[in-house]
Amino acid sequence: MSKRDYYDILGVAKGASAEEIKKAYRKLAIKYHPDKNPDDKSAEEKFKEAAEAYEVLSSPEKKQRYDQYGHAGVGGAAGGFGGGGMNMEDIFSQFGDIFGGGGSPFDSFFGGGGGQSRGGRRVAKGSNLRIKVKLTLEEIANGAEKKIKVNKQITCKTCDGTGAKDKSSVSTCKTCGGSGAVRRVTNTILGQMQTTATCPTCHGSGQQITAKCNACHGEGTVRGEETITINIPAGVSEGMQLSMAGKGNAAPNGGIPGDLIILIEELPHETLKREGNNIVYDLHVSIIDAAIGASVEVPTIDGKAKIKIDPGTQSGKLLRLKGKGIPEVNSYHRGDEIIHVNIWTPKALSSEERALLEKLRESPNFKPQPGKNDKSFFDKMKEYFE
Ligand SMILES: [Zn+2]
Ligand SMILES: [Zn+2]
Repeated sequence: MSKRDYYDILGVAKGASAEEIKKAYRKLAIKYHPDKNPDDKSAEEKFKEAAEAYEVLSSPEKKQRYDQYGHAGVGGAAGGFGGGGMNMEDIFSQFGDIFGGGGSPFDSFFGGGGGQSRGGRRVAKGSNLRIKVKLTLEEIANGAEKKIKVNKQITCKTCDGTGAKDKSSVSTCKTCGGSGAVRRVTNTILGQMQTTATCPTCHGSGQQITAKCNACHGEGTVRGEETITINIPAGVSEGMQLSMAGKGNAAPNGGIPGDLIILIEELPHETLKREGNNIVYDLHVSIIDAAIGASVEVPTIDGKAKIKIDPGTQSGKLLRLKGKGIPEVNSYHRGDEIIHVNIWTPKALSSEERALLEKLRESPNFKPQPGKNDKSFFDKMKEYFE
């Protein structure tokens, strides 16, 4: 048996680009797909033939050998794949590359209407559900498990999502014979044209229901509540979206449920502020503590911490508590807590206090003497936030 030319099979010119070859094959694969042509031997042959041609022409190395030596260059003169060397599984495994993701061309073939394919049949997909989750800074720093009650479409328990009254009221769709698709043949001047469409009777499910479930009126889903446990990783931030596959609305007629989309909202903290993965705290110390030194307590994301104020601390000094910030999502890296030291100037004084300070005013130690080693506010900001 002499083999047909691979370029002829795909209907492309010898100099065709990889994209053109892929496109041509995609067309043929859809046209001759076994799901669309049940029990049609000649379609199956064409399907295999196209797959074999694509196998060779899509590989730069094999293509080059084929261009140079013909069929003999790719699998021997005896015919290579001819005797069934390339089986259906091999062919379907190519499809991830051709059609992107799904294992069947019907994923893209039936594309419109949010349908999804399961074994070649069109299956409805439930809609996505969006919820907001409010988190405290502590929950963001440590991660949180949230149990949230959501109101959504859930699978009808009475009929188990089938929409049918009982088992005997489900039968294979008579219109499409269970395939979910129908072929239409129209006569044109070019001969007969064949098109495939979703079965109008069963809307692609391949099944017909003769008596509907009373609880869901045949929909397969009802409105209900579900408590969902959401594990929120540490380090999330305002506006971030997490998604949980299959936790959205249930689909009618036993289809695939939608996803749950979780929108993160940060609750403001009483004393701490978040700056990226760092936490910023504004500390106020007395003029005396700043002058003679002190040990003071500061709030952190995991409780209180003691820090030392060195004698002679200037206002605006930035101190750092390493690793007391927010972790990065999916990383071991953690930000710091940055403490901004403010020196509190008394606003009201008794006459004795005033007299004491008047005495100190004359001391040379109380006259400001900024040295050239004292960093400017700008330098300090740069150092900590860059
Ligand atoms: Zn039901
Ligand atoms: Zn049908």
